[in-house]
Amino acid sequence: MSFIGTVFGRGKRGPRRPSGFDPYGRHLIGKNLERHVHVDVENQTLFLDEDRRSSDEMQEWLNAHRRLTGAVWPAKWEGIAELTARKASFREITAIRDQAGEGAATAREAGRKLLTIAAAFRISDMHFRHGATHTSIEIRLRKKIMILKEVSRHEGRQLEIAIFNLQSSRKNTYSEKDPQDGGITGDALPGTGLANVRIIRGPSYPQMDGGGFMSLRFQYKEGTGARPEIPPDIILRSPKKPEVDIEAELLPKGFSPRQIDLLKYLCSFPAGFVVLTGPTGSGKSTTLLALSRHQARIDPHKRLITIERPVEYFMPWAVQLEVSNTDDTEQAQREFAEHARNMLRMDPDRVVIGEIQDVGVALVAVTLARTGHSGLTTLHVDDAFDIFPRLEDMDNDRLKRQVICDTSLFRGVVAQRIQSVLCPHCKLPWEPDDPRMPSVSRDALRSWGDTSGVYRRNPDGCDHCNHMGNDSPTAVAEVVVANTELMSNVIRHGVEIARQWHRARPDADTTMVEKSIALAFEGRVDPADIIGEVGQIPFRDELEQERRRATAARAARDAGTKEPAP
Ligand SMILES: [Zn+2]
Ligand SMILES: [Zn+2]
Repeated sequence: MSFIGTVFGRGKRGPRRPSGFDPYGRHLIGKNLERHVHVDVENQTLFLDEDRRSSDEMQEWLNAHRRLTGAVWPAKWEGIAELTARKASFREITAIRDQAGEGAATAREAGRKLLTIAAAFRISDMHFRHGATHTSIEIRLRKKIMILKEVSRHEGRQLEIAIFNLQSSRKNTYSEKDPQDGGITGDALPGTGLANVRIIRGPSYPQMDGGGFMSLRFQYKEGTGARPEIPPDIILRSPKKPEVDIEAELLPKGFSPRQIDLLKYLCSFPAGFVVLTGPTGSGKSTTLLALSRHQARIDPHKRLITIERPVEYFMPWAVQLEVSNTDDTEQAQREFAEHARNMLRMDPDRVVIGEIQDVGVALVAVTLARTGHSGLTTLHVDDAFDIFPRLEDMDNDRLKRQVICDTSLFRGVVAQRIQSVLCPHCKLPWEPDDPRMPSVSRDALRSWGDTSGVYRRNPDGCDHCNHMGNDSPTAVAEVVVANTELMSNVIRHGVEIARQWHRARPDADTTMVEKSIALAFEGRVDPADIIGEVGQIPFRDELEQERRRATAARAARDAGTKEPAP
């Protein structure tokens, strides 16, 4: 049995007609006169049929009306057609108001009942998630999010409004499109054992289609008072798991099985951030989506709040707060910061922060990580290791490296680029004197091996590639696990040494440009595109020498000898 009932769907009825005494004399309107008189009580105006102006019956009623009200209301004499239409529209409005009035009373009762059921479970939080068509009502029970009820969005909104209006302080008028907060005191919730319920609510994606959220934090009275009983017909359900797995999503994008394994490892921590870096168009938001989906698959009982500007992908497993896509940067930053602060009160386990755009957002991320939340975010830097100096630049006191280089705050960093791939049907052999590349880059490429298997783009293309010369592009990425060695090296020796030493580790992922070079030698990537899309091609012997030096330095440190001066 639904605790809301079917009352919201009630059909409209006619207006209530005063049966007994009416202070405006409506009970004295005879049957013959009924369709010729309309009493607008709200505006204290009479609308009367002009053809009945001189009828005795009309004059008698007008006298009675004046006696009863003690006033002469303005009278508008109009044609019967106009008057009939006026009465019809009045009936309709009254019906809607009546319905809203009774509906509201029933919704209030349903809202109280919902809170009572929730209190019976002794839950800590309740959440409404309004989607385009449905509202999911979720509870946090023994730390896990469970679905208590799914209703139509209309019913969901009615319940939300009813619960919101249980607040004793009515300075808050419910406003669907605005972020609001408040609280219900225990005396409005007798028999629940609740001391108070704190409320935060507002719009969320898809807000154009009525999307929104409301979070309720339950606080119980001290002691072991009478507790409501859990109704036997309530069945909790688990949130739905997303279907696509991370391998199916990331392997075709160019991530290796080893990288996907590292990403799964980074996503497995209950607290701390994974940062995706790269310029605009590097594909980092699709990777972020894949990681978030993976987390929701692994544990759908966790609550995810996102802040995005704008929302790029619909995540049915999240509450997505959207910053308006305005050209006004300051306005957008204010909205972003406001969402970030609200996020802390929305009972998240996980968060997605679209971008760490300024110090305010960075500090919110640090606070979230410190208070046991896991997060995904992006930062606009070219190299994975540059997130540390970038954050330090934002605030070299509160975000200094001694603070942020902490594995419980940052679990790992992913750097990513999109690399063009050659059309296999029309690619041409690469010439060692390729005039598109400077000689130093050509020499650098040759330092990596025999270039007879290297190809370049055919500028004319073919029918397979719409004459573009390219196939679908691939991601080239570097996955950096932020271990304690890396963090302490950044603090003690700076980013440059930390980067070299990390890459010298036998278990470290290779760099983006090394992956692109490998793809060039497989004949899949035009070497000229490596320079344009990923970076300069290094000389192999120089790179290997750097790694050997770093390996020796690490080994010397491990052996307990004095570290070489950085
Ligand atoms: Zn072809
Ligand atoms: Zn082609």
